[in-house]
Amino acid sequence: MPNITLEGVQKNYGGGAPSAVVGLDLEVRDGEFMCLLGPSGCGKTTTLRMIAGLEHPTGGSIRIGSRVVDSVPDGIYVPPEKRELGLVFQSYALWPHLSIENNVDFGLRLRKVPRAEREKRTSDVMDKLGISKYRKRYPSELSGGQQQRVALARMLAVNPEVLLLDEPLSNLDARLRLEMRAELKRIHEEFKTTIVFVTHDQWEAMTLATQIAVMSEGQLQQLGSPDEIYERPANRFVAEFVGNPPINIIELAREESGGLALWAMQYITDRHGELHGLGSVGIRPEAVHVTRAVENVPDGAFKARARITGILPTGGSWIIELDVAGRKVFSVTSLAPTCSVGDESWLWVQPADLNLFDGDGTRLNPQRAL
Ligand code: ATP
Repeated sequence: MPNITLEGVQKNYGGGAPSAVVGLDLEVRDGEFMCLLGPSGCGKTTTLRMIAGLEHPTGGSIRIGSRVVDSVPDGIYVPPEKRELGLVFQSYALWPHLSIENNVDFGLRLRKVPRAEREKRTSDVMDKLGISKYRKRYPSELSGGQQQRVALARMLAVNPEVLLLDEPLSNLDARLRLEMRAELKRIHEEFKTTIVFVTHDQWEAMTLATQIAVMSEGQLQQLGSPDEIYERPANRFVAEFVGNPPINIIELAREESGGLALWAMQYITDRHGELHGLGSVGIRPEAVHVTRAVENVPDGAFKARARITGILPTGGSWIIELDVAGRKVFSVTSLAPTCSVGDESWLWVQPADLNLFDGDGTRLNPQRAL
């Protein structure tokens, strides 16, 4: 299957509104599970619809394999049905006058698949998605979540090489959502389908994607594997958008960070020398360790005195709220805490777990910044 390549793609809907997508360069490689992740209105759906051909870019070009399907400078536009994307998951709208079985069967009929094979594929996919029992019903007789599963089944029945999915699990309850995620992941692994998946749910993106494209205000903020996005966020936006509980940010230039900012600054300067432009430090809650005895702090770690102000069990893990010289810091641990609220203790962080950002929020690489 071909790669999908976006070069300098722009979309302005007009009417004086800012561009929905700005200068987007993106490559979706063969067999990739790419999640477009970002807050509401950041341009994810617009991007997906442009790949599908349902929306025209106002700048740049889109290629599928070596074939240019959109080029604003060259006036090229290939309509959706000629993009050979397998099947585009355009909307969840089912045909109201067709039974569930015939809805799922629909794409196969269009492709003139022989009847016996059609029946087999339809019932296989309906079994997998747990909707066989509704086969004779009509869409209006199903709940929103059930309809979403029928829409997924209809799409999967034709075994497409590229799937474009826009929040396909949004109507499902938590349990079903988890099951469908596992199912999608399995389909991706088994069929090597290239998937472009739009979501605003970072957890969903982290569990499903091989690559995540994080977007904000129409711009690509970072493209990387889930681990890269989480562990080496390219900027403050990515660092703060991904992660729950959110990353601790210590503003180094602002007084509200108090003594913690001074200690962090001192520690970083001792390790790296003067870092030009250093503006803030981000520390994931899991990287914040808590101990009552300072002897337990490993050599070389960043440490600060902390008072425990809250312990919140979250079922299998705990969020510990700390006060460090008047500044709140959150720690997450999967080991039952032995400390209590009010305890005077220490927090410590391994140096590699300090994410350094400049005054504009861009990641600083100390080696390069030196
Ligand atoms: P959501 O998660 O809420 O669906 P999104 O990230 O998918 O958001 P888009 O739907 O791509 O974002 O919208 C990006 C921007 O473009 C928004 O400001 C939106 O209001 C605007 N927009 C989207 N579709 C149109 C349209 N048909 N006409 C005018 N503006 C539009």
